[in-house]
Amino acid sequence: MDHAVVIGASIAGLLSAAALHRRFAQVTVLDRDTLPAVDAHRRGAAQSRHAHGLLARGSEVMDELLPGLTAELVAQGAIRGDMQDRARHVHGGRRLARGSSGLTGVLVSRPLLEGQVRRRVSALPGVRVLAERTVTGLLSRRGRVTGVRLAEGELVPADLIVDASGRGSRTPLWLGDLGCRPPREERVTIDLRYSSREFRRRGDHLAGDLIAVVGPTPGVPRAGVALALEDERWAVTLAGYGAGPPHGHADATACITTAAPPRGHDGFTAFAGTLAAPDLHHLVTTAEPLGEPRTYHTPAAVRRRYERLASFPDGLLVIGDAVCSFNPLYGQGMTVAALEARALLDPDLSPAAYFRRIAAVVDLPWEITVGADLRIATTAGRPTPRMRLIGAYLDRFHAAAEHDAELTRRFLRVTNLYDPPQALMSPPALLRVLRSGAQRAVPVPA
Ligand SMILES: Cc1cc2nc3c(=O)[nH]c(=O)nc-3n(C[C@H](O)[C@H](O)[C@H](O)COP(=O)(O)OP(=O)(O)OC[C@H]3O[C@@H](n4cnc5c(N)ncnc54)[C@H](O)[C@@H]3O)c2cc1C
Repeated sequence: MDHAVVIGASIAGLLSAAALHRRFAQVTVLDRDTLPAVDAHRRGAAQSRHAHGLLARGSEVMDELLPGLTAELVAQGAIRGDMQDRARHVHGGRRLARGSSGLTGVLVSRPLLEGQVRRRVSALPGVRVLAERTVTGLLSRRGRVTGVRLAEGELVPADLIVDASGRGSRTPLWLGDLGCRPPREERVTIDLRYSSREFRRRGDHLAGDLIAVVGPTPGVPRAGVALALEDERWAVTLAGYGAGPPHGHADATACITTAAPPRGHDGFTAFAGTLAAPDLHHLVTTAEPLGEPRTYHTPAAVRRRYERLASFPDGLLVIGDAVCSFNPLYGQGMTVAALEARALLDPDLSPAAYFRRIAAVVDLPWEITVGADLRIATTAGRPTPRMRLIGAYLDRFHAAAEHDAELTRRFLRVTNLYDPPQALMSPPALLRVLRSGAQRAVPVPA
């Protein structure tokens, strides 16, 4: 085939181009943003100012698509390490046991990651990455999409168009122009508010650990994450669910409702002190801040069910956040984008086959996050009886994992998207949890 056009030069779009260049003579990636010459934040990726963790599975798949990528990042200061070793994971109010997970992750800022992926993709034969090109519509002939229209009036013909334009994707509207139905949207209103700040990193911070994750609990709907970055920096993000009233959960009375982490120094620090464990509070009160806190609001996690449409025009595919934008707290978006880009290597690029493949990619992380979010009282929607049962089991699991590095390893394999959640209930795991005799989780100090 001759020419593929990708809308969006963020992670999903660039990785799509890395896959498509293997079968298209030409791949053109179009982005409306100004793409920085040096690794820097840009308008179209405001999320880069917040802790942006890459799951171990994500870096593995990115290396498949762009061989040697991780090594190149490490050569520029990114940090490679075991996800369980120099890491603090507090989930369900329990501090999970350390050990060696065998899962190797890479700690890297989003600007460096995106910049290096862009340099690699731009250097691929036949690939062009063009900035300041806004796609405003699709061209079509006899029910097939044949190109895109740019804001400047230019028409760009192509054999395949991949929409990687993020959660604001206009494909649902464009489908209407083509006489097709838009996909059904599943929306989980999480009302998640972030406040993030960078700090100068010293070797003695967190006793030399590189990752600290303090997850939310039904009683404490707040979370925080600290990730070591290149150039001796920390990215620290604090998050709070739902400023509105709880949605009638049984444990709603236990819920702290001052949800949004504040922008100012004192508020940021005080908020860190209200998490289920004190690690981040200790870090932000001892480390030197670099710049002011930045905020971000995610009203909802949204999944568009393209795989369920009865008809969809040939010549068009959708990928990344344009298909499903997750609760960012779980750090899944880039890994899912990489797995979906890998699905573009399949010889069958018919929409039906492609959307079926990526629905299978999205199912697992969507199930994990929606199940966890619905346990938070301020999330709109009620957990199903199955979710309640899993939630109760997870409390037991986390309590057992406090003293069991093998259970922690299994948990991290699920959150890093290697294994399905059912792996936590396999007979050996179940046995370890039952033997531990652990009781329901209660928040514990360090
Ligand atoms: C606050 C926050 C924190 C996050 N944290 C993590 C994390 O820790 N780990 C993780 O893996 N993921 C995280 N994510 C998700 C992650 O950023 C995305 O999943 C990832 O960037 C892939 O998204 P994407 O490429 O599909 O879309 P985006 O990153 O949204 O990029 C879309 C691109 O399309 C361009 N564009 C849009 N419209 C047009 C148009 N009409 N014409 C041309 N170009 C257009 C935009 O300029 C942009 O470059 C986070 C997201 C947010 C919001």
